[in-house]
Amino acid sequence: MKLTVKANAKINLILDVTGIKKNGYHSLFTIMQSISLGDTVSVEKTDGDDITVSCTVPGVPTDSRNIVYKCAVKFFEYANITENRGIHIHIDKVTPFCAGMGGGSADGAAVLVALNKIFNTNYSEKILCRIGVKVGADIPFCIVGGTALALDTGAVLAPLTDVEGYYIVVVKPEDGVSTKEAYAAVDSLTDMKHTKNKEMLEFFADGEIHNALKLCGNVFEQALEVPGRVDIKDICNKNGAVASCMTGSGSAVYGIFEEKSDAENSIKELKEKFANVYLCTPEKVGVEIIEAIE
Ligand code: ATP
Repeated sequence: MKLTVKANAKINLILDVTGIKKNGYHSLFTIMQSISLGDTVSVEKTDGDDITVSCTVPGVPTDSRNIVYKCAVKFFEYANITENRGIHIHIDKVTPFCAGMGGGSADGAAVLVALNKIFNTNYSEKILCRIGVKVGADIPFCIVGGTALALDTGAVLAPLTDVEGYYIVVVKPEDGVSTKEAYAAVDSLTDMKHTKNKEMLEFFADGEIHNALKLCGNVFEQALEVPGRVDIKDICNKNGAVASCMTGSGSAVYGIFEEKSDAENSIKELKEKFANVYLCTPEKVGVEIIEAIE
């Protein structure tokens, strides 16, 4: 059996670091949004017991370091599947990496959903999230998708009103950001200005999506100098963006537009300066099975 799954990337509409837990992990307040940009991940049953991985883009590990590999191992452990568990995972990479767009986490989520079908385990979304969180805090969101508030390390989720009818322009500057270094930079901030968390959440609760989006913000922008960020935000704002912000711990920056023509105008300008510019829309799901071959 072979399953092909679309693994949607995410952006953080708001991202705040609210503290450090006893175990050293950061507590977050974030609202995440699935977007139409994403990898296509296929999972095929093979003979034997090996997990093999291939990827269209060099630089992404294809061994046990890949998030998809780790997710498969955790899935088999949880399901107590010890033999006849050979699979090949192929990642058609579209989502930029080291971008703060959760590309690897989305791939991992896609693999969990595929394995649940291939091995007929019938696990609920909640169980898949429980398996996924052992590999990464963003994986539960990537399984559930849509628009959601995420707390604690990001793994405690509450669904919010869908964001619909907007256009999202994403730009990945040449340089990527290492998540580890980004958190170290945020830790060294002495006077962090927190984002408008409560206010944004209230707008979402009241269904005032447009007002909510106006409050997009990310504390990592105070801690990191990402070349190109100011330029990208300026171009988006000049072309009528409702919001423009960095996603995750960087380096990608997005603009949200009500009018497609405004998004397209900013894309035209952005493409003169940046190589990786994408036009996306909000998605209501994190992963989507697009083909199943028996
Ligand atoms: P996040 O929003 O989760 O911080 P990110 O954009 O910083 O996402 P990813 O795309 O998830 O980062 O990947 C970051 C690193 O993880 C890469 O440098 C890569 O070596 C490694 N990695 C492991 N598995 C994957 C995968 N399936 N896709 C991309 N990168 C992966």
